[in-house]
Amino acid sequence: MLEKLPFANPRVLVRNARVLDVERGELSGPTTVLCQNGMIRDVDCADPGGAATLDLQGLTLTPGLIDCHVHILSPYMTEQKGVPGLWTFKQMDRNCIATVAAGVTCVCDMLSPIKILNRQKNKVLSGGVPGPEIIASGGIFSCEGGYPEAVHPVPAIAGALVGQPKYEPKTPREAARIAEYLYSQGARIIKVGYTRLSRMLVDGRTLPAIADDVLHGLCNAAHRLGVKVRVHHNWSEDMHHLLEFDIDCLEHGVYDRDLLDDEIQKVRDSGVTICPTLTINDSQARFEEKIGFLKSDRALEFFEPQALEKLKFVCETWTDFSAVDYSGSFGYTRANRYCYAAEERNTANLLAAGVPMVAGTDIGAVVAWPGELADELLRLESVGMSKIDAIRAATNRAAEFVDRPDLGLVKPGRTASFTVIEGNPLEDLRAFKKVRYTCVRGSWFKAKHPELPDFWPGHDVLFSLD
Ligand SMILES: [Zn+2]
Repeated sequence: MLEKLPFANPRVLVRNARVLDVERGELSGPTTVLCQNGMIRDVDCADPGGAATLDLQGLTLTPGLIDCHVHILSPYMTEQKGVPGLWTFKQMDRNCIATVAAGVTCVCDMLSPIKILNRQKNKVLSGGVPGPEIIASGGIFSCEGGYPEAVHPVPAIAGALVGQPKYEPKTPREAARIAEYLYSQGARIIKVGYTRLSRMLVDGRTLPAIADDVLHGLCNAAHRLGVKVRVHHNWSEDMHHLLEFDIDCLEHGVYDRDLLDDEIQKVRDSGVTICPTLTINDSQARFEEKIGFLKSDRALEFFEPQALEKLKFVCETWTDFSAVDYSGSFGYTRANRYCYAAEERNTANLLAAGVPMVAGTDIGAVVAWPGELADELLRLESVGMSKIDAIRAATNRAAEFVDRPDLGLVKPGRTASFTVIEGNPLEDLRAFKKVRYTCVRGSWFKAKHPELPDFWPGHDVLFSLD
């Protein structure tokens, strides 16, 4: 999928790059970018001599894309019972490689046992596998029986070895202690699962949620540490309740009904950011349409054989709502199918009201896969975002949101992470599907395929508001 460019010289002069200035929304004529030791030294400069060179021949160079919501380590193990197969570790490598091949240079991983994640981060940093920079949340905060209800804490001994996938603090003090532990392990996001409505939606079941005092304590602890609190939500009632807390971001969207104008204003006035992850909703609603990709040769590059087998099984049976077994994991698809349009309308209305949004795919959550960030940008455009704002949602605005001011712009002094594509994304965001090179902190990779795979044959955006 990728070929590493063998620059032994720490100085690399990129020539004939058309640089996208995402602040001004302008594409330059062919120019130069000088990088050294993983940093941008100069832009539009003369050849300093002595540098290795890379001639981009007029390709477009943008700041490296940031995907603000992924599960980069997801081994597609929802259908696995007991101890995950060893192939799941190989799948993590594939996820990292496919992410870079899609031009994504930084991701927020929104739920992984922290020690497994750190192992993978170190593998990427030491050059053991191509991969993006990973900003971690570690395990998700919830309560016993709370969302995600299929995920449970592992026994303490296993937790000490690999980290916990889920934390269920009972007091504000316990929540703060766990947040401090995760921070000490490198986590820079606090992720909370908060959905009192069952994933089945239509069955009327409710789920318990983290107690109010515990959530307040967690928010305080996170902000003392300087990290954001990002909350999974889906239900309008939860949204109202969550806005009473000092949270930073709502993940996904409200899907049980259309939000009213005063509710939209309430969200805007609260100052929260939204990471709508339209890709995962779309994927859940119409997963069976992605089976063409799973049967293609390209899928063999994306997935370990065991992962592919499970995905095909899920895909083929996804819409069989009569199967009892599916009530626990995939039966909620029907709810998503029913609710996706409402969620899209809510996203459009929140956007129109000026609520800040960042781009995230939720790839790794079984039905969405590395490479789909370009489609997420198209989906953001479909709900009313301008092309340049969709690009900003994955570059400079995303960089600010993830507290990485060194990313997101092609300027001297910033980290040398770039996405090199064919075409002008200011005219057509599909240019992001034609990734030619990706540079992560000064390491250059050449994509072996001229285009990303067609995850959605015949569709760029499945639903349209008009
Ligand atoms: Zn997620």
